[in-house]
Amino acid sequence: MIFLLNNTITPTELNDLKNLLDDKNFRYRHLLLNLKQVLIIYKFPQNFDIQSIAELQGVAKIIDVKEPYKLASKQWQNNPTQFDVNGVSIGGNSFNMIAGPCSVENEDQIFQIAEFLHKHHIRFIRGGAYKPRTSPYAFQGLKKEGLKLLRKAADAYNLNVVTEVMDVSLIDEVSEYSDIMQVGSRNMSNFYLLSHLGKIKKPILLKRGMAAKIPEWLMAAEYVLSGGNEKVILCERGIRTFDDTVRNTLDIAAFPIIKELSHLPVFSDPSHGTGNRDRVIPMALASVAAGCDGLMIEVHPNPENAMSDGPQSLYPHQFESLLPTLKTMVQSMGRVMDCEVEGQLI
Ligand code: PEP
Ligand code: MN
Repeated sequence: MIFLLNNTITPTELNDLKNLLDDKNFRYRHLLLNLKQVLIIYKFPQNFDIQSIAELQGVAKIIDVKEPYKLASKQWQNNPTQFDVNGVSIGGNSFNMIAGPCSVENEDQIFQIAEFLHKHHIRFIRGGAYKPRTSPYAFQGLKKEGLKLLRKAADAYNLNVVTEVMDVSLIDEVSEYSDIMQVGSRNMSNFYLLSHLGKIKKPILLKRGMAAKIPEWLMAAEYVLSGGNEKVILCERGIRTFDDTVRNTLDIAAFPIIKELSHLPVFSDPSHGTGNRDRVIPMALASVAAGCDGLMIEVHPNPENAMSDGPQSLYPHQFESLLPTLKTMVQSMGRVMDCEVEGQLI
């Protein structure tokens, strides 16, 4: 349940309201969201009269959100979440493309990709500087040096940076060099990290845990939202199933399900979602048809020599071949693609 408070509520009235709720054994969290004050009620006394609560001084409206995820739910907010990253709109009827290599490897590699993306009017470059690798002996990323190279390449080609934040101790550093911070699949359940990301203003791209049910994924988003950061993008990146002929199974049904349950934008990552470059384009297009709000795709100037995820990275010519069909499909879904907007401006 969410109590939306009168925006004219005085500090004294708020205090009185809180004292009253405390006396009645309510448990709640007080938040300021988009200039609206709310109380998220997460525990109620045994018998309470909803009418008497609705009449309390300072309460404008009571929204009965049944799901455990309150702020991520459509019952709280029916309109799609929409926000802007340096003039590029995300959510609503916008469609975004995030592309780039799995890892930032060196200056030459990241500049080549940045130039390539710019040529195609792409607005977001991705690249990992801190890499969550299964093996401690695998390439772990260039760390701060990688962040600096990514930022430099992005600035040279007018791109926004999307990169992963793996730990609370890295939030300030990653935030300084990025425009959107990614939480990887392995960290979707790192609730301590998520609650800290709720306290910052940068948008968070929250990947689905590889074994996470959809409500668990939405609860992870709730950690960020309930900290006060409303700029959350969900990203489906494939889940583990019994089928080991694929790296992961991209859950195409997740897109309409998220649209049914939540107002948050949801992107698709068919690269990690398939693990194989020949399946990336069909699954990217299938995701668009299923209603995703954007794509994250790995592309590398020389995938054979990539330091991570080479087999699922597109060759630049494959990425180019995706764009015309993608643009047609995005348009026929009634959406505006960010690189089309840029294309028209130039
Ligand atoms: C990535 O995007 O590079 C990545 C590691 O993704 P995921 O967390 O989905 O495995
Ligand atoms: Mn990768």
